Amino acid sequence: MNILDIINKKVTKQQLNYDEIKYAIDNYVSDKIPDYQMSALLMAITINGMSDEETFDLTNVMLKSGDVIDLSMIKGTVVDKHSTGGVGDKTTLLLAPIVAACGLSVAKMSGRGLGHTGGTIDKLESISNFNVSISNESFIKQINDIGVAIVSQQGNLVPADKKIYELRDVTGTTASIPLIAASIMSKKLASGADKIVIDLKVGKGALINNIDDANHLANLMIKIGKQHNKQVICLLTNMEYPLGNSIGNGLEVAESIEFLKGKHEHDLYELTTTLASMMVSVGKNITEEEALAQIVEVLKNGEAYNKFMQLVTKQGGDLNNISISSKSQIIRSTETGYVNNIDALKIGKLVNRLGGGRSSKNDIIDLSVGFVLNKKTGDYVEENDELLRVYYNEKDIKIKDILDCYTIELVSHKPMPIIYKVVK
Ligand code: URA
Repeated sequence: MNILDIINKKVTKQQLNYDEIKYAIDNYVSDKIPDYQMSALLMAITINGMSDEETFDLTNVMLKSGDVIDLSMIKGTVVDKHSTGGVGDKTTLLLAPIVAACGLSVAKMSGRGLGHTGGTIDKLESISNFNVSISNESFIKQINDIGVAIVSQQGNLVPADKKIYELRDVTGTTASIPLIAASIMSKKLASGADKIVIDLKVGKGALINNIDDANHLANLMIKIGKQHNKQVICLLTNMEYPLGNSIGNGLEVAESIEFLKGKHEHDLYELTTTLASMMVSVGKNITEEEALAQIVEVLKNGEAYNKFMQLVTKQGGDLNNISISSKSQIIRSTETGYVNNIDALKIGKLVNRLGGGRSSKNDIIDLSVGFVLNKKTGDYVEENDELLRVYYNEKDIKIKDILDCYTIELVSHKPMPIIYKVVK
């Protein structure tokens, strides 16, 4: 077997078998196949696709490239959640304590931001001293003690995805449906949860831009889950505009704390409570309505907020010291009308330009920068009203580029829903 034949087979739209996929992945992980040949194979897959059979094989090969976490020592049902990546998406910071406060175990392994999308681990590191890399034993003990832990993906968990994802990010091969399905599902299967809820973002600020592709990806991940006896539920959600009112690591932690104390933007509340209802409903085997009632209760009586405080304290964090820049500036509207959109992709890229995101894996990021939106999609603004506040440090951006993110028109468009559909 050789890699050139495998690349040629995919270029000529033939189906790869398990052994060929295993040969390519294993030899790439062990550095015997160079980046340029793996890039060629990934591009051929991105252009010509993969059958379901090939995607199942790819997932299995990637899963077997490293360790599989054993969560059997954790009491009760373990429910996991994954987001395909968005702008202003701080739902994990909210869901983890909410779902734990409802009595389930949340064993969350999260990633860092890449490209224009944020990552939970960066957000948590904006809390001074928060430790994201505790040992496996401490991870399991903490979940048994307080019901929740959030750590960065550690150890030798799906090394194939780690290496391939980084290559995809710089070779224009991130938006391939079979590659996304295998990447997400190999990690979810390796991290051991029985029930998995996936927030599949659709829109300009997401990897997937249309509902047909999102349906295809959702069904593929559900089929992969079934093969491994795992229940997967996908929620297709809107990522045309940023979620909530803050974008940027420390700012999103501050918004999450306010949310748990009872102050929240409508879109973030709707998405968070829907995802939480699904997690609690599958985890406890109750209806989503019953689950929602429990979620509303733990938000109202402060148990979700207390659980977040417990989580931060256990992992060494100091909430009196969240990284938020002391330099900020209000940006005012130059137009009068309705905010018909706020471009998630453009805003996400501007956070990167402020220093708040990475363009390559080893970049050190500024956790204290970003935006807090005063006006959201659907709001009416008058010229000179405050649109948003930008938090910055050394890196400056042009006001015109910020204003370009907003579409303000005299006629109001019907606001787009935050949740498109559920695929089970
Ligand atoms: N999230 C992942 O973990 N992998 C992808 O390929 C896309 C989103």
